[in-house]
Amino acid sequence: MRSITTLDLQYAHRFYKFKGEAQYLHGHSGLLTIEVEDTINDGVNMVFPCNEIKKIAWEVLKNFDHALILREDDPLLPAILSVYEETGIKNGAPQNTMKGEAFKTELATAYPDSRLVVTKETLTIEGMIKIVYDLLKDKLNIAKITFTSGVNVGSAEFETKNNIDRCPLCGIFLDENGLCPKCGYQKKN
Ligand SMILES: [Zn+2]
Ligand SMILES: [Zn+2]
Repeated sequence: MRSITTLDLQYAHRFYKFKGEAQYLHGHSGLLTIEVEDTINDGVNMVFPCNEIKKIAWEVLKNFDHALILREDDPLLPAILSVYEETGIKNGAPQNTMKGEAFKTELATAYPDSRLVVTKETLTIEGMIKIVYDLLKDKLNIAKITFTSGVNVGSAEFETKNNIDRCPLCGIFLDENGLCPKCGYQKKN
């Protein structure tokens, strides 16, 4: 069975070198749906608590919210950075508090201080799904990701691969010692 959560992402991007309107900088309200698949954890009668899926995903994905997402070879990138530098917001601002954990993968690098994500490929719906899966595949048993942005929708299904022990009292992941970091349950061997 599946537990499903959704996240809202407001972002700006453009398709560099694309022959169409999307080559101009513009913004979207994106809706990301993450489906986690596993057996039902009998103790709590859930696959996984949806709010906990959201918490795990949001920790890293908030880097994409109220952010600018540009491809690494886009000449807008140095231009934007120079304006951010000149106006003193490149390395953060007191109001820039909703920062995610910085990350660097094969596909994308997040710069939370400047609310910027630099991608290897054009950030299409498909590109976003690839990046999200890559960031979360070891943390959750992701079976499907759907991303909706404007009138565009894409989805991809994945084979779940993690063998994750869950707490029978609160449903979240047990750590490597079988201890629940949330409620303190200890699994007996
Ligand atoms: Zn767009
Ligand atoms: Zn617990």
